[in-house]
Parts: sequence; C-alpha cells; structure tokens
Amino acid sequence: MNLADSESLARRMLAAGYTEAGLEQADVAILNTCCVRQASEDKVYSKLHELRSWKRAGRAIAITGCLVEKEKERLRTRFPHLDAVIPIGEYEDFIAELSRRFDYSLGEPLPAAGRTGISHYVNVILGCNHNCTFCIVPSVRGRERSMPVARVVDECRRAVADGAREVVLLGQNVDAYRCPETGVGLAGLMRSVETVEGLARIRFMTSHPRDLELELLEVMAGSSRICRELQLPVQAGDDRILKRMARGYLVRDYRRIIERARELMPDIAVATDVIVGFPGETKEMYENTRELIRELEFDVVHLAQYSPRPGTYAGDRMPDDVPAAEKLRRLNELLAIQREIAAGRTRRWIGTDVEVLVEGHDELGRAYGRIRQGKRCLIKRARCSPGDLVTVTVDEASAGQLAGVPAGRQERRLPVLVT
Ligand code: SF4
Repeated sequence: MNLADSESLARRMLAAGYTEAGLEQADVAILNTCCVRQASEDKVYSKLHELRSWKRAGRAIAITGCLVEKEKERLRTRFPHLDAVIPIGEYEDFIAELSRRFDYSLGEPLPAAGRTGISHYVNVILGCNHNCTFCIVPSVRGRERSMPVARVVDECRRAVADGAREVVLLGQNVDAYRCPETGVGLAGLMRSVETVEGLARIRFMTSHPRDLELELLEVMAGSSRICRELQLPVQAGDDRILKRMARGYLVRDYRRIIERARELMPDIAVATDVIVGFPGETKEMYENTRELIRELEFDVVHLAQYSPRPGTYAGDRMPDDVPAAEKLRRLNELLAIQREIAAGRTRRWIGTDVEVLVEGHDELGRAYGRIRQGKRCLIKRARCSPGDLVTVTVDEASAGQLAGVPAGRQERRLPVLVT
C-alpha cells in the first residue's frame, strides 16, 4: 500500500513538472513511511538523521505515510530540519506549497503515461474497522473507506492504456471492500475489473479470515485472469490466542476457508502470517500453531516474534510474558518446519506447464516474470518482452524461483542405456 501511495505522489509531482532523481541530484527528499513495526519506525528516524547533512540551501525534506499519522507534530519538534509533514493522500497542497516556498525551475509537466510498469497497484479500500490487539494500523489509517467500483475500473483501464498487464487490488483488509455507491463486495468488484480489456491478471491482498466470502473463491476459480493466490493471515493456530488477539474467528473457520479454496483450486498458493510469543502464549498454545502449519502446508509463512507496540491494546495492557529466548526458539523451529514444507510445495512445479507474465530481463538477459501463483520464474532460451504471457515447462525449482523453457521446447535427452 505504501508503494501505491508513493506511486500516486510521484505521478502528481511529475504532472507538476518535477522529475525523479537520485539523492545527490535531488532538491527534495520525500520519505513515505511505515510504522507497522518498531523496526520500520526506527529506520525512518535514522534516515531523517542521515538527511540532516544532505540538506543545504534550496533543498527540502518532507515526510508522509503512517508515521505522520502516529507521531504528528512530534516529528517537527524532534527533526526541526523537516520542511513538510504531509498527511496521507493530501499531496496537492504539499506540492503547491513546495513550489511556492522554493523557487525551483520546473520542467514540462509529464503525463503519467509510460510510467506504469507491468503491475499497477490500486488501493481499493483504506483503513480498517477491526481492532486486532497487536496492530497499530486502525489508529494510523483510520476507518474503512472503499473506492467506488466505477473508479477502480476506470483506474484499471487507464493503467492498461498506460502499459500495465496486471492490477493488484489492495486493502489492509481487502475483503471488507464495499462499494459506497452500490454496496457490491470484493467478489463483485473482481467481476467488474475482469471486464477491463487488455488486462491479463488481477491480484488482491490482504484477506481476512473473518471477512472473506466463499463467493470470492468461486469467482476466483471460474476466472482465468484472477491469480490463484491467497494472502490470508492466520496469526495463530490456537483459539485462545486468536481471542486474545481479537481476530474474530476460530481455527476451524480458517481451516474451512483453506479447504474450500483448495477444493475449488487445487493449484492455489496460500501465504499466511504468524506471530509467535504473543502475550499469554503457553508452550501448548504455540504447539497448536506449529501443528496447524504442518497440517495446512502453506506455500509461504511470514513469521514474526511478538514485540509490544505502544498505542496498541496488547502493547499497553498485556504483559509481554514470553521470554525473548523462548520467542526466538519458537520462531526458529517454525522457520525450519516451513522451509521443508515450502521446498516440497515448490518441487511440485517441476515438469508442469505454468503461465508466466514477463516482467523484465535479468543481468544475463534472461526473461523473468511471475506465475499465477505469485512465484518468480526464469525463462531460459526464449525471446520475449515485458507484458508477454508465456507458457513455460518448469525444469528447476528452488525456494527463490522456478526456471524453465517455453513449453514444447524441452531439451531432448539422449536415451540412457541400462546394462
Ligand atoms: Fe490490523 Fe489487519 Fe487486524 Fe486490521 S485486520 S487491525 S489491519 S491486523
């Protein structure tokens, strides 16, 4: 979502006559921040310190993103060399103010055309109405606000006209999407976006087990454009911890969604998020999470150790009672288990034909892109251009990527003589 916001700001600045430049040549540095974890917040502070020596007459530093919502005026007192604190999405006033305060010689306004890559991000819903006890997002991103279907479709059309082949529909909780004009949910939005001509693929993230409608899975299963990929954070495999997290579902609800998804789409890839060491997590509760990971065999698990976030319910009111060494032990155990599961899941691609949307070429000139399940795939011995859809027979598979040759072009192997 931050990438989508950065892109939106960049487009507006180009339209105002600014150009993109590396830090050394730049007159303005803009930090688009994330504060979902303490580490991301600390990174912003250290960057702001670094920029102090970069700043000189005529140069400006601005900051936007979640940290602005969280820290507000405190940022200005802590970092007096900051020129502007921009609320998320309120870019026009900032650009106007910048041009007034600093007399930059601006170039010709650049249209957005040609800027869009193969994938285009669209924030279809902002904010979140849930209150997971570990999460800072609702307090920095506010209540849910969905973009009307017609506007989403329009933006997708413009992106395609500008060269995009894939759109990624984004939301902190994308399943909470509701068109403010028609009341249509995510499944209906998907159906409308599918009508955009020239669009090869539609992705969406991140889902929520409490809000995901089974109808969405049916729409996905019946579509050749919606990618077979589900980002569905479970967070814990124990109902007592889920309750403490205020997630609003039980492990069996989660399991039912995955089973239905795999029943409808056996080739679907499922990614999840898990937090270990949440306040009150006993050894037994942790082991339930471990067994769920073994049972559901995710393609990807984003693992995190719990760390209290001031401003959240858990951070302010629940004692962080799992010792750091134990959190690390649990994390490492799950990492090792998941590494093995992921390797098995990856091997299943060998010998199969996959559809790759070409994104670019690596330093050796080989084309690469992603398959419908989101995994990166290298295409050997093929001439193709970004935006092409190529069917590839996979002959190599590792944790990082698949590799193969265009279907029908497998290497001829010499017959092996067995004596
Ligand atoms: Fe945070 Fe996601 Fe929970 Fe919303 S649903 S509070 S964004 S973790």
